Amino acid sequence: MSGKIWFVGAGPGDPDLLTVKGRGLIEEAGAILFAGSLVDRAATLFAPQGCEIRDSKDMTLEEMTAWLIDQAGRHATVVRLQTGDPGLYGALIEMTRPLTAAGVDWAVVPGVSSAMAAMAAAGETLTLPEVTQTVILTRVAGRTPMPPGEDLESLAAHGATLCIYLSITLLHKVQEALLAAGWSEDAPILVVQKASWPGEEKIVRGTLKDIKRKCQDEKIASQAMIVASPTLGAADWADLARSKLYDPTFTHRFRRASE
Ligand code: SAH
Repeated sequence: MSGKIWFVGAGPGDPDLLTVKGRGLIEEAGAILFAGSLVDRAATLFAPQGCEIRDSKDMTLEEMTAWLIDQAGRHATVVRLQTGDPGLYGALIEMTRPLTAAGVDWAVVPGVSSAMAAMAAAGETLTLPEVTQTVILTRVAGRTPMPPGEDLESLAAHGATLCIYLSITLLHKVQEALLAAGWSEDAPILVVQKASWPGEEKIVRGTLKDIKRKCQDEKIASQAMIVASPTLGAADWADLARSKLYDPTFTHRFRRASE
């Protein structure tokens, strides 16, 4: 027997933010290998009786792929559960290549990424007409270096929405890069820790100048999304360019303009 290995995006933490497809696969899984302290709840909530559930935090890549291949020999459905979306900072391809080489079938189920969950938690929008129509998902260099041309200062020069993963302990680098790119010290910055986690989510609003201190005051040092965007705070702006789609004077495929 050779089962199939599913790389399932668990979403940002709230088990209700799993996709219906992802939850269905967990419910029929013979074995689940989960990554990250944020997703064990989804695994344990929905896994069937007798399902083999293992945390991957102490495993190497080789141990993980060996475990997955072994489990696929015993079960029709094996799930590798990852936070957010498996295609973002998830070592997906490193894991799938050995599976393909071993002739084991695999597929990916996308998940709600933490950038989307953070903006939803704060009631903010990633894009806004005539403000920015672009979102950049990035990080700053830690032990993983940034490829040429992707340093935060260059990316920030676009003035688009920046969702910065894996960087909460490097907030000073975010501050430096954005200031160097011409963002003002008063530019609004949003930090959300444990976005979507009932009772544990923390939302911190500040400026480029004071966000680091505010995060220190709130003791936020992990599991946090940093968003820098010219859209932040738009709910309270006096002037807002309207979206053409819902503008009464704008005709499109599904609606004629009113007089
Ligand atoms: N694949 C994941 C990202 C994994 S990298 C996704 O799509 O979201 C881990 C980083 O994701 C963390 O350092 C943090 O920046 C972010 N993150 C993951 N879950 C989060 C959550 N619930 N709230 C805020 N940030 C989160």
